[in-house]
Amino acid sequence: MINIAIDGPSGAGKSTLAKAIAKSLHIYYLDTGAMYRGVGYAALQAGVDVCNPGEVETFLNTIDIETIYKHDEQRVLVNGDNVMPYIRTPQVSKAASDISAHPCVRLKLVAMQREVAKQYDVVLDGRDIGTFVLPDAKYKFFVTADVQERARRRQAELIKGGIASDYQKVLDDMRLRDKNDSSRSLAPLKKADDAILIDTTSLDVDAVVALVLSKFSQE
Ligand code: C5P
Repeated sequence: MINIAIDGPSGAGKSTLAKAIAKSLHIYYLDTGAMYRGVGYAALQAGVDVCNPGEVETFLNTIDIETIYKHDEQRVLVNGDNVMPYIRTPQVSKAASDISAHPCVRLKLVAMQREVAKQYDVVLDGRDIGTFVLPDAKYKFFVTADVQERARRRQAELIKGGIASDYQKVLDDMRLRDKNDSSRSLAPLKKADDAILIDTTSLDVDAVVALVLSKFSQE
């Protein structure tokens, strides 16, 4: 199986890159952030305190999570419902970051991610793919960019999705998420020693995709 790990902080351009690579190599793309977002969203809907380990664990045992592909697009289903339309709000971003710190949540979603990687040629993007989910993946990339640039991109994305956003608030949220994601005890955001580092601050999407694809053509 071809497994490609793309990790990095939010707004670095991982998902755009991962989608383009998957398309170009005709393989699947698994957005692992969407899985954490799906659980975070469902927990908010159920009134669960996403910072309370006991509440989160009890809730997790009552829900059924699936990822499926429809028309080549990944969907996350919670109890059979497609949650994709609801998971890109700032509230869900924060809930995903908080809920992803609980080991029970990570271990459940990581087991699902490993199963997908066992069955399919796939590009996975996330925070811990190269270090924890698939430490033996042959191809690993760590994609990053200045936090100000990442906040600008995220603000543009939110506005495009119809969510009015203040730059300073997006920047503050992003810094908080970076801190949460990098400091959790299990599988924090971290570059794998053998991952190729790509700084996208001053690169456009096409340049980043070409750079990554060039690593494959060098084989
Ligand atoms: O990548 P995205 O911003 O959609 O991820 C949402 C949140 O899910 C991240 O802030 C992070 O806390 C969590 N996440 C994670 N591990 C992954 C992917 C996402 O902890 N592999």
